[in-house]
Amino acid sequence: MKLSSTIRVVKVLLSSCLVVGVGACSSAPTGHSRASALETPTSEQALQALIDGNARYAADRPVNARAHSARRAEIAASQRPLAVIVACADSRVGPELVFDQDLGDIFVVRSAGNVVDDVQLGSIEYAVEHLHAPLIVVVGHERCGAVMAAVKGGEAPGHLGAFLRPIQPAVQSTEGQAGDRVDNVVRANVMNVVRQISGTDPVIAEHVREGKVRVVGARYDLDTGRIDILN
Ligand SMILES: [Zn+2]
Repeated sequence: MKLSSTIRVVKVLLSSCLVVGVGACSSAPTGHSRASALETPTSEQALQALIDGNARYAADRPVNARAHSARRAEIAASQRPLAVIVACADSRVGPELVFDQDLGDIFVVRSAGNVVDDVQLGSIEYAVEHLHAPLIVVVGHERCGAVMAAVKGGEAPGHLGAFLRPIQPAVQSTEGQAGDRVDNVVRANVMNVVRQISGTDPVIAEHVREGKVRVVGARYDLDTGRIDILN
């Protein structure tokens, strides 16, 4: 990494709150959440940037809710997202909003129940291999309708079974578990998808083994706006 880039990274890290969750930021960033010319961050730096962004969002102090014309110009020619977000398609779980990230910051792959098949895995491979994203975050959420439907079971008309079937292993593995039935399945399903993505050969599994990319699970709380990292 060039010295100038190193200085930019340090500036970004210094301007970020290191508080996990809603905690108030002692030095809230005043501009874009990361340097526009930042070289590929480490997976730890990327995860911290997302945690910081979620803390700003949950505290109603976003920095990326302004006019986007300058950022659009910065990234019009190329992209270097800091993370891949695999999230549920639920309209209440907008990844750019809940992580307080701008255009070009995160590569988002969504489906009902945050499940992945070949289309999603191919998209993730592209982001990892060609865009060099160092982090993949699978985001499940509280009161997920897809998980509720999977728990309920029964006939799935049309193509609904395509996302309900992959949730079934989590439904079965959490049978009889104490606590909230749906939330238990949400968490188990997230971790199943984390394992599925991590073990997908050749591209993603190789990158994971070589330490070039990290895959983590997360749960979004619809009430507080907070993201909890599950692993
Ligand atoms: Zn959902």
